[in-house]
Amino acid sequence: MNMRMAAALCGAALLFATASHSAPKSLVKIQKISKVQAAKIASLGYDVVSIKDNYAEAVLDKTEAAALSSKGYSLKTLIADLDKYVAQMKSTQNKTDSYYNYAKVETVLADWAKKYSTICRLESIGKSCENKNIWALKISDEPQKNEQEPAVLLMGAHHAREWPSIEVPMAVAEKLLSNYAENADIKRLVDTREIWIVPVVNPDGVIYSMEKSKFWRKNRRKNADGTYGVDLNRNYGYQWGNVGSSNSGYSDTYHGPSAFSEPESLAIKKLAQREKFQSSISYHTYSELILYPFGYAHNANNPDSKIFIKLAEEMAKINGYRPQNSAELYPAMGDLDDFMYGNEKVLSFTFELCKSFIPPASQIPSFTLPNVEAALHLIDKAGTYAMAIPGNNPRLIENLGFEDALNAISDISTIFGDERNIVIRNEVLKQVDLISKRLAQLTVDDLKQQSTEKWQRLNSEQSATLAVSYVRTRLLFDEGHNPGTYATELINTVKNK
Ligand SMILES: [Zn+2]
Repeated sequence: MNMRMAAALCGAALLFATASHSAPKSLVKIQKISKVQAAKIASLGYDVVSIKDNYAEAVLDKTEAAALSSKGYSLKTLIADLDKYVAQMKSTQNKTDSYYNYAKVETVLADWAKKYSTICRLESIGKSCENKNIWALKISDEPQKNEQEPAVLLMGAHHAREWPSIEVPMAVAEKLLSNYAENADIKRLVDTREIWIVPVVNPDGVIYSMEKSKFWRKNRRKNADGTYGVDLNRNYGYQWGNVGSSNSGYSDTYHGPSAFSEPESLAIKKLAQREKFQSSISYHTYSELILYPFGYAHNANNPDSKIFIKLAEEMAKINGYRPQNSAELYPAMGDLDDFMYGNEKVLSFTFELCKSFIPPASQIPSFTLPNVEAALHLIDKAGTYAMAIPGNNPRLIENLGFEDALNAISDISTIFGDERNIVIRNEVLKQVDLISKRLAQLTVDDLKQQSTEKWQRLNSEQSATLAVSYVRTRLLFDEGHNPGTYATELINTVKNK
């Protein structure tokens, strides 16, 4: 632990141990501060929700606001009573134009599981503190089987008050299910990927936020000190700690008594370790950002940052958001992405949707449409970019289809063609070797069927030279041992290459 982290830890402990707090909470603009100052405030455990070039926005009660004012920060109240604001938002909803609540999510998921039973199945991956099901919808052909296909996890509502984060994963599910029959691109994704949707990671918090009209962020754990709630996005077990999170049950960024103390984060951990995902998105609001790990500290080494940055930039082109390293926004320990990547080697992203926590329901299509497209891109690239990461799931490459394998070779060559770090280069070369062997095997199988289609495609892909040489070796070996396995013409072409 460095000095700065130690200082932040003490600061957070002192702040919350001594303060007394009172409702209501306000959305407050902290004016004329640098990003560094904003990050420092966040690292103390204040609920900073948005950081811009020269100001930040935070959710504060009166005591917290007074503490910041006394340190000389200039505060401006944007929304005085967030509870009233949520109540107002609810009153703008109507039947045709409204946010999903937990009950509706349950009903709709169950309906889809019935209606599209050949390409999806519904599973409860655990129960919340208050015994509500945490639902996961798996979308894939042969949904009952684990087919060792590239797998993707999309999650909403780690944080209760961030209602749009439920809309996007539900919209992705709907797009995949309802377009499968007619749309060849969607069919390809569903057939060759395993896509898991957990729209409400935090059912109790969402119900509380919607029904009690509280501006609630955490789950509904009854803490030992009589307070309620653990911040689920600070409760994951990779670099769980006290930077950007708090050890006080009162705080909105309370990290819980230990890593994975909460059934909700534990359910996600178990699912991740069972399914071995290649990529994931956790949806939050707000700021229109695409964040990638690590988040626990500035300049934490991410050996796969080239892939993260490439993929983040591509998705940002689709939805117009800004790609950014998570700790650059502000360091926070114990979040989902750090666990998913640090522990499970998943290409994990956090999307901060929208420009406010809960935009009017009439705006739902304006943020779901571009974000569905961004998610489809991630689902696609789970079968190519993710293959560059060693140790993720060795069985995956053995089962990769020809198209994905060829695209993987091409994508990896684009990303790592000029890689100078010898350790990374060696790791990537090992992966390229495995993928090339897979490509060669599929091509040889094709040639044995007297088809040269794959062989020609392999030869026309510049970055597939290793696979070509594997095919060549194999053909000449077979010809030496079993003459006549392949057409003489083909053997002559191979010999002359
Ligand atoms: Zn959030």
